[in-house]
Amino acid sequence: MEILSKNSGHTTGIPYKNWHGKPYYSLDAYCKNTYGEKLYKVALNAGLTCPNRDGTLGTGGCIFCSAGGSGDFAASTADTDSAFEQAFLQSKNSLSGKKTGQKFIAYFQAYTNTYGPVSYLEKVYRLALKEPSVAGISIATRPDCLPDNVMALLCRLKKEYPAKFIWLELGLQTIFESSAAFIRRGYPLSCFEEAVYMLHEAGIPVITHMILGLPHETKEDIISSMEYLNQKPVWGVKLQLLHILKDTDLSFLYEKEPFLYGSYETLALYLDTLIPCLEHLRPNMVIHRVTGDAPKKLLLAPCWSSNKRVVLNTLHRQMKKCGSFQGKHWKATP
Ligand code: SF4
Repeated sequence: MEILSKNSGHTTGIPYKNWHGKPYYSLDAYCKNTYGEKLYKVALNAGLTCPNRDGTLGTGGCIFCSAGGSGDFAASTADTDSAFEQAFLQSKNSLSGKKTGQKFIAYFQAYTNTYGPVSYLEKVYRLALKEPSVAGISIATRPDCLPDNVMALLCRLKKEYPAKFIWLELGLQTIFESSAAFIRRGYPLSCFEEAVYMLHEAGIPVITHMILGLPHETKEDIISSMEYLNQKPVWGVKLQLLHILKDTDLSFLYEKEPFLYGSYETLALYLDTLIPCLEHLRPNMVIHRVTGDAPKKLLLAPCWSSNKRVVLNTLHRQMKKCGSFQGKHWKATP
């Protein structure tokens, strides 16, 4: 885990100088510290599926997951140079308007990106790793989809491409088994723990996806999830606002009982949970996301979340005004 350097005496209110002015340790700050520039994610859909959709565990998927397998912005690729080049360019072009640098993260986002024939996975990962403008790859998957042959592949590629990174993103969403059953996650918490330690032993950084706002989870429950992550060798976290996306099973429940399933009617209510979460996370946990990122055409609720700039500006302003920062309430275990 990275050692952060503290501010020396001056009073920005933010205790760490390498957070680049934000009240938490963002992915942007990590990339600037490590690569000298912000890295943008180029979202890819490698044409895989998910055991929660193909009938192995279920056919309906997680209750909140869109038909695009939570990769609605991802460009479709395959195991050929031309398919990869085309998808990479298409996804890069969708970043137009953003001032990108020279390096990118190839993000295998849609569905379960370690769930497929290892020979196919190897080809698609290699195509990304050999692309000169790719600083590394980030692979979104499930902890129950990391068999020995996939782990061996990841370790081999890590050795072959020492100048590039390989990150694994695990969709945990909640530490509570009752919530996990409700969202139809399909594996127990112990499975996540085993995967995290296995990846840690292999030297592969883990990013954990957590959903804020699941029905019946209180603010205290969500904070205890953050405290749980603090104790595990987790490198980064994506804090994802519960979105209701059109035509998902969650949207059908929401339409019947919006008060039960529509969490955080306002941005203020969301910040009332998000800020304490950040305050309880350890300061070296890299924060990859603090809100949702749903396509506007699919988003049913909460509508305020579609203006990401406003969400981020309000969060930063409020945290600075209150003297709040990541780790404020974190207690290092002896
Ligand atoms: S594991 Fe991921 S891709 Fe599969 S159904 Fe759940 S959210 Fe969707």
